Amino acid sequence: MYKIIFCLLLLSTEACSQSPNNNPLKKAPMSASQNKYYSTTSKEKIVLADSVWKQVLSPEVYQIARPFTSAFETSKEVGTFHCAACGNPLFKSTAKFESGCGWPSFFEPITKGSIIYIPDNSLGMQRTEVECGKCKGHLGHVFEDGPPPTGLRYCINGVVLSLEK
Ligand SMILES: [Zn+2]
Repeated sequence: MYKIIFCLLLLSTEACSQSPNNNPLKKAPMSASQNKYYSTTSKEKIVLADSVWKQVLSPEVYQIARPFTSAFETSKEVGTFHCAACGNPLFKSTAKFESGCGWPSFFEPITKGSIIYIPDNSLGMQRTEVECGKCKGHLGHVFEDGPPPTGLRYCINGVVLSLEK
């Protein structure tokens, strides 16, 4: 009996001591040591050339955080864009357009159900977040300043797209 309680205690303390390290939000960026612009105290705005960002960020952070980094943004390749997490078909290349916003942009999803819409009032803005209809992975946002026929602009992070030609 005592042995069981001891094991339980051991398990729970282990779980507690490990949880801060498992939280990705608390993890410092991989490249923080080489990134002299990374500061948790300075409130000064940072404007850097893209080439500098590329040097100081890990490839993952660079592609997710910086615009104009996705090969899909300007690509004219024909096919279907799927969710890179679960394979759900999301957009056809015929619905893709160059918005100049720095992210791959589409004016309509393949079907209504391929996307989930969620109100996003973060950062003091009223936006609509779009998620994958199959796995609820975060894809980007949709804005009402797109071209006809829908007038919508689905602004999607290229990292979460995979193209099937
Ligand atoms: Zn998905």
